[in-house]
Amino acid sequence: MTDKIKFLGTAGARIVVAKQLRSSAGTWITIDGKNLLLDPGPGTLVRCAKSRPPLDPTKLDAIMLSHQHIDHANDVNIMIEAMTNGGFSKKGALFAPLSALEDDPIVLKYVRDYVDEIHVLKEGSTYTLGSIEISTPLRHIHPVETYGIMLESSKQTISFIVDSRFFPDLIAKYKKSNLIVINLVRYDGKGGKKLDVDHLNLEDVKNIIKGIRPKRAILTHFGMTMVRSKPWEIAAEIEKEIGIKTTAATDGMEFDLANM
Ligand SMILES: [Zn+2]
Repeated sequence: MTDKIKFLGTAGARIVVAKQLRSSAGTWITIDGKNLLLDPGPGTLVRCAKSRPPLDPTKLDAIMLSHQHIDHANDVNIMIEAMTNGGFSKKGALFAPLSALEDDPIVLKYVRDYVDEIHVLKEGSTYTLGSIEISTPLRHIHPVETYGIMLESSKQTISFIVDSRFFPDLIAKYKKSNLIVINLVRYDGKGGKKLDVDHLNLEDVKNIIKGIRPKRAILTHFGMTMVRSKPWEIAAEIEKEIGIKTTAATDGMEFDLANM
């Protein structure tokens, strides 16, 4: 298995998801012989089946939720069921914040028995999956308990900087990343109105990329203002301005991790 990230969906926030202007399916990550699924939003199971070649959920080793918002977690139950062959083959791990399991539980109780392990995410924790280190260095500022995910393999450190309000620790805590995948929800550029929301906008993302200076940045999870602003043009603008290779993810895009 080659190490890669497949973006089954790139939609962020309510309207783009509700109208399915972009797919809201999750992100399938293959590294060091393991398959992980991050944030299985609405449509993930369908997109796995319709992917070319199809992605087989029974090959998953772990499902991770950064938080319980529906655009990140809607398909978690069906994906657990699919991963475990309808619950008949107990296997795999689920990683989720406590809030997704207790406060506003999006993971149904009966499917929890299908997985081998449930890891409750906490700030500053590290978990292992084969040779991969999975860590949650930082609780993000978002209306519900949310963690960014850092994956360290034998070859690279990849950070998924998920939904958050901007704060300087987003740079400090993900500093060692070679690759960052960042949820750029809002545009707010060129005189756009800066709303007081718990999501990153273009200016925040530029500051994070400038601060971390990874080998590459991939933008995803686009809200309406970003979809309208042509994410590929925004990526080109960032690359020109900061000098870091930047790619705007598209639905179904497969990123080969050997091509950093
Ligand atoms: Zn959210």
